Amino acid sequence: MIMIKDVIKKGSPILRKKNVPVTNFAEIQTIIEDLNDTIDYLKTTHEYKRGIGLAAPQIGKNVQITVAESAQGKRYVLINPKIVETSNVKKPIKEGCISFLQYRAFVNRYDWVKVQAYNEKGEEYTVEGKDNFAMLLQHEIDHLNGILYFDHLPNKEMDLVPVEDFPSVERSNIKN
Ligand SMILES: [Zn+2]
Repeated sequence: MIMIKDVIKKGSPILRKKNVPVTNFAEIQTIIEDLNDTIDYLKTTHEYKRGIGLAAPQIGKNVQITVAESAQGKRYVLINPKIVETSNVKKPIKEGCISFLQYRAFVNRYDWVKVQAYNEKGEEYTVEGKDNFAMLLQHEIDHLNGILYFDHLPNKEMDLVPVEDFPSVERSNIKN
C-alpha cells in the first residue's frame, strides 16, 4: 500500500529531536517505504533540479534514516550514515528543504563527501557525492542530527530568501 506522509514543517520540535540509530533493520522497513512513497509523490508536485532527499524526522520518525536521490535519479537509502571523508574546502551551494519549500539560500558546503551508511538490508556501503549531491548528503545527515540548513547561515533564518525573489538576489547573497 502506498503511504504518503505529511511532511513535518519548520518550527516543529520533531525536526530538532535526537534521532536514534537503527539496530533492528526488520522494524524499519515501513519507514523506508513511507519515505520512498512520499518522495515519489513530492516529485509529482515540484521539480527538484538539485536532487531530492527526505529524512525520517521529516515524516515524524526520530530514527537515523534518510533517502537521497541525485539529480540524475539515483536513489540511496542511508541508515546510520556518517561522513567519513570530505574535500578540503567548502563553497556556497544553493539549497532548499522539503520542510520549508518556499525558501532557498546559499550554504557553504563541502563540494565532495564520502558517506558510509547501511542500506535497507543492513548491508554497509559507501557513497560519494560531489557538488549538488554532496550538498544533499550533508543536508540529510544534518537532519539526522537535528540541524536545519539555515543554522549554517551567518544570520540564521534572516538569510533565507523567498523562492519567488531568488533570481534577483542570487548574486548578492553569495558570501565568500
Ligand atoms: Zn531538509
